[in-house]
Amino acid sequence: MNAEMMKQFENLFIELKKSTLNEMKMETPSLEKGDEIDLSQEDRQRELDLKLLARQNFMLKKIDNALFQIKNGTFGICHECDGEIEINRLRARPVATQCIACKEESERGEGHMMYEKRSHTQGKSLHGNVIPLRAHAEDLASVLTGNSDY
Ligand SMILES: [Zn+2]
Repeated sequence: MNAEMMKQFENLFIELKKSTLNEMKMETPSLEKGDEIDLSQEDRQRELDLKLLARQNFMLKKIDNALFQIKNGTFGICHECDGEIEINRLRARPVATQCIACKEESERGEGHMMYEKRSHTQGKSLHGNVIPLRAHAEDLASVLTGNSDY
């Protein structure tokens, strides 16, 4: 991967981090509005918020890790076989840490349940109004939580 591409990914991760942090800030007030909704609904909402927050925290770790890898020049290297991760794969899954071959191999081994889980949650959003940025982050998060390589 050339330096220019590396820079593009770095910018992408910085943006992604910003938007994730913004989302986390925006969601905090929904934990407080207890007056209009009944308690069980509030509990459910809180549970969803906590789940989302956990995924966002997980994603932030992945993003920080990717930024760290960009700094020390190991970004885009498969952590299984030390080969380069396909650039198209990185475009689609910027936080991928395995090349396609290694990813497929790990999915054959233990991925069936995870794959089902991932396709089960795909396309569903926790809240009704999904903004494009959120959709991207959610997609990424579902990829991340479906990964076996953390
Ligand atoms: Zn590999």
